[in-house]
Amino acid sequence: KAGFAAVVGRPNVGKSTLMNELLGQKLSITSAKPQTTRHRIHGIFTAEDHQIVYVDTPGLHLGGEKSINRYMNRAARSAFNGVDVILFVVEAPKFTREDRAVAQQLAEAEVPVILLVNKIDKIKHKADMMPYLQLLGQAVKFDSLIPVSAFKKSGLDLIVKEVLKRL
Ligand code: GDP
Ligand code: MG
Repeated sequence: KAGFAAVVGRPNVGKSTLMNELLGQKLSITSAKPQTTRHRIHGIFTAEDHQIVYVDTPGLHLGGEKSINRYMNRAARSAFNGVDVILFVVEAPKFTREDRAVAQQLAEAEVPVILLVNKIDKIKHKADMMPYLQLLGQAVKFDSLIPVSAFKKSGLDLIVKEVLKRL
């Protein structure tokens, strides 16, 4: 199996940290130059039986008002429909206008969206997540939700498993 997974989300949710953990190496691959006009490659994970190319879709993390105009939606749509699955990264328990702007763009996606709720190590009580998860559920239609912590390296196996299901 081989395919493309787009990693999207506003700045500071932990995309780079998560990518480094998923790729199992502390390389600053995240600063790689654009490889194509539509995607920037974060890194390629190669295992015996599968390969996942993690990419960035530039249209998807502008945030703010610009991202909701028709032109941007079209540009973003063309970028993210070139992948097999979208990993929408948010951070617990903080949902911002920028997150909402990304979520709005993702409403146009024709590929499955997996919601990665990163930084769950910050959550002391699971119940604190309820209002946040409700808000998220209203903003974005997701195929599955995976709580993760790049710091604690938890949830990483599940991400790979869910991505592979969709390739
Ligand atoms: P990006 O802008 O989405 O690429 O986010 P970064 O990977 O640069 O991370 C932003 C900040 O969040 C950094 O200070 C990271 O150390 C921190 N961070 C990333 N992952 C986690 C996590 O799982 N838990 C906590 N507590 N902080 C994290
Ligand atoms: Mg980054």
